[in-house]
Amino acid sequence: MRDEFLPYALPLIEEDDIAEVVDTLKSNWITKGPKTAEFEQRFAAYVGAKHAVALNSCTAALHLSLVSSDIGPGDEVITTPMTFAASANVVIHAGATPVFADIDPVTMNIDVNKIREKITPRTKAIIPVHIAGHPCEMEEILAIAREHNLLVLEDAAHAVYTQYKGRMVGSIGSATAFSFYATKNLVTGEGGMVTTDDAELADKIRVISLHGMSRNAWNRYTAAGSWFYEVLYPGYKNNMTDIQAALGLTQLEKLERMQGLRREIAARYNDAFSQTDALETPVELDYARHAWHLYIIKLNLETLSIDRAQFIEELKAEKIGTSVHFIPVHLHPYYREKFGYKRGDYPQAEGTFDRIISLPLYPRMSKEDVSDVIAAVRGIVERSRR
Ligand SMILES: *Cc1c(COP(=O)(O)O)cnc(C)c1O
Repeated sequence: MRDEFLPYALPLIEEDDIAEVVDTLKSNWITKGPKTAEFEQRFAAYVGAKHAVALNSCTAALHLSLVSSDIGPGDEVITTPMTFAASANVVIHAGATPVFADIDPVTMNIDVNKIREKITPRTKAIIPVHIAGHPCEMEEILAIAREHNLLVLEDAAHAVYTQYKGRMVGSIGSATAFSFYATKNLVTGEGGMVTTDDAELADKIRVISLHGMSRNAWNRYTAAGSWFYEVLYPGYKNNMTDIQAALGLTQLEKLERMQGLRREIAARYNDAFSQTDALETPVELDYARHAWHLYIIKLNLETLSIDRAQFIEELKAEKIGTSVHFIPVHLHPYYREKFGYKRGDYPQAEGTFDRIISLPLYPRMSKEDVSDVIAAVRGIVERSRR
């Protein structure tokens, strides 16, 4: 067995990342300024969007996109139960009501046929979530949105690098929200980005992310700036800082390399696990370029004498860290109590939840780390056969 515990996720921070952050600290400009602007430009170019607005989280990116699209009280927003709670919480922050549509159990993404069933005259937006980095069926989602005049706000927290039919996520829906949280494929510690081709939406998000002020600090405190500003909206405080953007710039430079390493690990797992009937491995459908943010296995519980919780305990005993993505949102106490949700409401999400485990997958894993995970999973499967 391994000596050291293997966490399920770790960032890849190298000397160039550290140097760029130190450079920012030495420059005396540590909040939103030139590096944030450069990161926005490079990120927009990378995903092929006209505009990018850097923020302090993906949660803020989702929330400000809704608010800036005038979605609020009386409106409904359709999303998936199989996501991090933020995807639905932001709808509540905006004053609107989240409505869940069950998932396709193969990709674990929102089922487009279930979206249709949930549309009402109050529906204003759809938030598809590209789970683990596998794209949703965007053509169908865009067609539903056109038919009913809905905003398509993609939660791409897992999907930097993801492509759908050769198109980069970030250039497809009305707006796309990315996360640079510590466990994600590209990290700034905390951070997020909205990309869109809609100049008006981008401007509005930019303004309300900084108190609703007509000018930001960079426009006011530099030699060319002016003291005058006006508050156009009672805005929020969700801007990115140049310290974060510095990390974003160097991370973006190494993204292709990091993604190559993720793909290699996913391929080794696929090879190792695709032959056993005790579990299912994740798919990469023909329209997809997977970002491999997560490697989620699905246990075939009828072949095993242990449940998912026990499987995780046994991996932990072998010093392998895991996680579960996700506890379906409608099963959390707030959602049960506020909206009356219960088990049975979203059978595909619930049935999938009971059998999933996210295995360690990140660029810093060594070949031995990957071998250890494979050996541990195989060993548990062999000892636990029914
Ligand atoms: C991480 C995550 C978020 C939130 O991202 P933050 O940058 O932490 O706000 C939203 N949605 C999904 C699916 C996530 O995994």
